Amino acid sequence: MSHVWNCARQSLMFFVLISVSSAQTHPEQQYDSLALKIFKTSLESGKAYDALTELTTKIGNRLSGSPNAAKAVTWAQQKMEEFGFDSVHLESCLVPHWVRGDVEEGAILFGGGKRLPIAVTALGGSVATRKDGITTGVVEVHSFKELDNLGTKAKGKIVFLNRPFDETKFNTFEAYGGAVDQRWAGAIQAAKAGGVLALVRSVSPHLDNVPHTGVMGYTDSILKVPGVAISTQGANRLSELLKKDGGLKVYVKVSCQTLPDVESANVVGEIRGTEYPNEVIVVGGHLDSWDKGQGAHDDGAGVVQSIEALRLLKQLGLKPKRTIRAVAFMNEENGGRGGEAYAAKERPGEKHIAAIESDMGGFMPRGFGVNTDSVRYERIARWAHLFSPIWADRIFPGGGGTDISFLEKKNVPQIALIPEMQRYFTYHHSANDTIDKVDERELELGAACLAILTYVLAQEGV
Ligand SMILES: [Zn+2]
Repeated sequence: MSHVWNCARQSLMFFVLISVSSAQTHPEQQYDSLALKIFKTSLESGKAYDALTELTTKIGNRLSGSPNAAKAVTWAQQKMEEFGFDSVHLESCLVPHWVRGDVEEGAILFGGGKRLPIAVTALGGSVATRKDGITTGVVEVHSFKELDNLGTKAKGKIVFLNRPFDETKFNTFEAYGGAVDQRWAGAIQAAKAGGVLALVRSVSPHLDNVPHTGVMGYTDSILKVPGVAISTQGANRLSELLKKDGGLKVYVKVSCQTLPDVESANVVGEIRGTEYPNEVIVVGGHLDSWDKGQGAHDDGAGVVQSIEALRLLKQLGLKPKRTIRAVAFMNEENGGRGGEAYAAKERPGEKHIAAIESDMGGFMPRGFGVNTDSVRYERIARWAHLFSPIWADRIFPGGGGTDISFLEKKNVPQIALIPEMQRYFTYHHSANDTIDKVDERELELGAACLAILTYVLAQEGV
C-alpha cells in the first residue's frame, strides 16, 4: 500500500519538477528533452549490449598481436559500417606480441614433500622461468623500501610483494594506484635485490583464488627475472604459512615469451560535422584486452559504448555541427601504441576540441571527469544537468584515459566517463571479466551519456 502511494507521489513530484524546469529559459536547457529522449532510446533499442555479447563470446579476449585482436579489428570495422557511419577506416600501428604459453604452475612446498598448489599467472611482458621452474625460499615485503632494507636476504629468493589493495578507499582507482607499482616494477626491484622472481599479490579488493594479470616493466640495465601474480587468497595463505615457517619454499613455472611486433590497427569511424567538419570530438575505448576472461568490462564495454554513442545519434536523425569520431584503440594494455599512433598521425586542417574515453568498466554511469583549463572546464561542466535524469550529473576536475592521454600534448581536453567503481577491480585483468558481469541497462545508459555529451559539444563547442 505505502509502496504504491510512494510511487504515485514520486511520479507527481517528478512531473512537477519537469514542468518547472521546462518553464525556465536558460540556454543550457534547450538540450534537456533531447537528453531524455536519448536515455529512453538507449533503454528501448540500444545495441551496445548485443555488440558486447558478440565481441566477448564470438571473439573473446583480444591481447595485442593475437589472432583474436586481429578478428576484433575486423569486427569493429564491420560494426561501424553496419551502423552506417559516414566513414570508417583503419589506422595501422605496430604492437607488441607477448604470449602466455601453456604452462602456469605454482605451489608452496613444505618439509616431507607436502605440496599446496597456488593459483598464479604470468604478468604481461614477463620472461619465462627455467623449463623446470623456479623452486626456492621466499622473502615477503610490502614496499620497495622494505625490500631495500633486506640487504642481501633476498639473494636467490622469490620476492613476494604483498601490499594489499587499500579497501578503505572509496575511489577504487586510487586504491589500485596505491598497489600497482608492485606489479609494474616488482621484477625490476626484485632483481636489483638479487631475487630470482617477483611474486606479486593480485591488485584486487576481492578475496578469491583467481589471479589478476596486467602489464609489468623491465629496464635494460637490470637482469630480467619473471614477474608472476598470485591470487589474493593464495597471497594471504602464503603470508600466514611464512609466519609459521620462514624456511618454506615456493615453486613457480611459467612459459610466456615475447615475439616480434605485429602490425595491427585502430578502428576509426565518424559522423561528419555539417558546419565545422574539421573540428573533432573523439570518443573511444580500447579494443585489446588481457588474455584472461573476455575483456568485457576492460574494455569491450568502452568500445561498444563509443560506437553506440554515434549509432544512437544516427538512429535519432541528429546531424552534429562538428565531427564526432569513435575510435576503437589498439594496445592500451601493454604499450599504448594505438593511442600514440592516433595522436601522432598528421591530420591537416583538423582540430580536436575534446577527447572522451570510457575505460573504467561498463557499470552504471555517475558522471564525467574533465581535465583541461578552467575556462574549458566550465564550458563542459555546464552540461552536467543533462545527466540528472539518471543521476549521472557529477562532473569534476581530473580524468582522461590512457589512449586519449597522448592528445594532451596537443592541448585537447581529456574527459573520462566515470561509472560506479566498487566492483571493477574484482574482475579487472582476470578470468572473471566476462559478459555475465555486465548489466545491459547500465551499459546502454553509459553509451547514452557519451551520445549526449558528444552531441552537445559538437553543437556548442568547448
Ligand atoms: Zn582498460
